[in-house]
Amino acid sequence: MAGEQLPPEQVVAQRQYAPDRRVDIVHLKIDVTPDFTNRTIRAQTTLRFVPIARPLRELRLDAVELAVSNITATAAIQGWRVETNAIWITFEQPIPPDRETAVTVDYSARPKRGLYFRTPELGYRPEDMHLFTQGEAELARHWFPSHDFPNEKFTSEVICRVPPGMTVLSNGRLAGRTMDEATGLEVVRWVQDKPHVSYLIALAAGRFAGLEDQWRDIPLTFHAPVSQSGMATNSFPDTRDMMAFFERETGVLYPWDKYGQVCVQDFVAGGMENTSLTILTDRTLHPASVGRLRSSQGLLAHELAHQWFGDYVTCKDWSHLWLNEGFATYYENLYQGHRHGRDAFLWSMLQDAERVLANANDTTPIVHRTFKQPDEQFSFRAYPKGGWVLHMLRSQLGEELYRRCIRTYLERHAFGCVTTEDLREVIEELSGLSWDAFFDQWVYHAGTPSLEVEYRWEEASHLAHVTVRQTQKVSDQVLLFRFPLTLRFKGEGLLEDRVVTIDSRRQDFSFPLPKAPQIFRVDPEVTLLARIEVRLPRPMWLAQLDDAGDMPGRLLALRHLAKNANEEVVRRLGRVLREDGFYALRIEAAKALRRIHSDAALEELLAGIDQPDERVLNEVLQALGGFHDPKAYAALRQRLDGCENPILRATIFEGLAGCPDEDIDALLIGALEKPSFDNVVARAAIGAMRARENPAFVEPLRRYLETHPDRFRAADYGRALVDLAHLARTLEDK
Ligand SMILES: [Zn+2]
Repeated sequence: MAGEQLPPEQVVAQRQYAPDRRVDIVHLKIDVTPDFTNRTIRAQTTLRFVPIARPLRELRLDAVELAVSNITATAAIQGWRVETNAIWITFEQPIPPDRETAVTVDYSARPKRGLYFRTPELGYRPEDMHLFTQGEAELARHWFPSHDFPNEKFTSEVICRVPPGMTVLSNGRLAGRTMDEATGLEVVRWVQDKPHVSYLIALAAGRFAGLEDQWRDIPLTFHAPVSQSGMATNSFPDTRDMMAFFERETGVLYPWDKYGQVCVQDFVAGGMENTSLTILTDRTLHPASVGRLRSSQGLLAHELAHQWFGDYVTCKDWSHLWLNEGFATYYENLYQGHRHGRDAFLWSMLQDAERVLANANDTTPIVHRTFKQPDEQFSFRAYPKGGWVLHMLRSQLGEELYRRCIRTYLERHAFGCVTTEDLREVIEELSGLSWDAFFDQWVYHAGTPSLEVEYRWEEASHLAHVTVRQTQKVSDQVLLFRFPLTLRFKGEGLLEDRVVTIDSRRQDFSFPLPKAPQIFRVDPEVTLLARIEVRLPRPMWLAQLDDAGDMPGRLLALRHLAKNANEEVVRRLGRVLREDGFYALRIEAAKALRRIHSDAALEELLAGIDQPDERVLNEVLQALGGFHDPKAYAALRQRLDGCENPILRATIFEGLAGCPDEDIDALLIGALEKPSFDNVVARAAIGAMRARENPAFVEPLRRYLETHPDRFRAADYGRALVDLAHLARTLEDK
């Protein structure tokens, strides 16, 4: 089909735009009765609306697979019809503009998407039975009819009728909980009296256990399925600190009546930022015993940031999704910095940069209209690249001016819908500068700069010569970039920054310096999203690896040196593993030593096994397991004694899979006995059993799987059965 020209009207039809708003929805009320046994709902949704600008004869509502039984209205209805994706209601007389009208739709549904049951019939524990909804991107229409697109905001209420004793959570504030004697059901009513978009309307109902807290006068709640509620305390305590941080950072008080967070089982994503009620995957729950190997901070901070970015102001259509996700990603990183220091913040930014640069040949801009499904927009462009756009803005504006811009943007568009131009306008207005080029290259065009930097010192003239080349493929989609670039020269008694503007294919610079620098750094403060390759003599890399105040520099040096490791480098990596002040660099050193895989590298890993931070220790244990060496196995076995951390224990059992010692078999069988978090220890032991191909495991494993299916998640249990079958096959072979 290459080269085929489409007629112009079809070309337009393929692009994605916001739909027309024929009416202004004022309020939407859902009254829903779930049937947990049959996994269906009966519901009545009422919309109050006002036609915009012209008389309205027909009202169209988004609705998918709703079995509509009746429709009534405050205006006379001539008829209605249900199509695959919509309900059409025809009024006898056109409704004049600005006349408020109410329409009520009675229906039932067995939603395949949008609303999800977790019931014993589906293999979930009876004591955890629940349901939850997911609206974004366009799934709300699977459980209630509305204008299901983010260019329309309205207030809402959700009434849910459940068996007594169940918890019902929804947006806004709790407005009533009464008993309906006729049905024996409890009627719980939540009201969101601040406008929001359809995809943010949420419901979670069922058997949850909860914790409560408070930030200022804002009630905070945290719920988890009953059987997992013991772990809730480990996820929740940071919420108040996050609230305080985001209010200070944005300059805008938390805009909703309460903040609830609820964990549900087999959630469809990591988390969803429904207004005032974030729904989270239960996989974020963890016991204290795992230490720093699990954390809910990133996820919770991301979803909480959305309460400002995405909920309070919402992207008008999916082409501007980065205004939701880029902000949430960036403010999650800012929170990491607030909580764990500047290196933690920079580390998050560097990891995000890697996610973007892994797609270096991408030719689609952040804002574009050529996606087929809105779900495609939830990609590295909206998340890490969007976050990086904000980071570059903040770096170039300065923190104080950046904060003023963001606060103005939020206040000006409070409870409104936004596009990228709304953000650009505020920044231009407050900074006085033109940001056309910035948004043009980073947001409306694709790609990232790829830089090759050469450095040369000329002793005779005391000049540092620097050549910068932009080598990315330039096209209609990817521009030649223009940006400020900081070059830093460091040495004893020397610290000089030179900021140059890069705007060409190749630029040469010469800087007079009092003496030869020992370290030369490009973009030392991590303010540019670019692949940067610097060519330096080896002594300068070694000096950079020792620079205690420059974590990003040490990371670059470590990675560069590890590519061509000699004995000296292996020794230096060992020193990083034992002594570096930042945990992630110690992890990088362990990974590098594992890759180098020499006897000397093993010695350095063994010498670096005493790690107080579990994240580093786990990496060292994994690295040791990869060596298949008696000394490494001995070290792993030794670490097992007294180790109460289930994830570390699991890593050790995985590492021992290849150990030839026969008594390992008994150790693995013994590992099945005790339950552990997520059954992680037993699962690792079973994996090791499979790898050892010993038919003696068949009987104990069969017994274990028969007695303790409840310790597994369904998918994990299936995998364990496959492992058992694999081992039993060996038995038959013999
Ligand atoms: Zn998000």
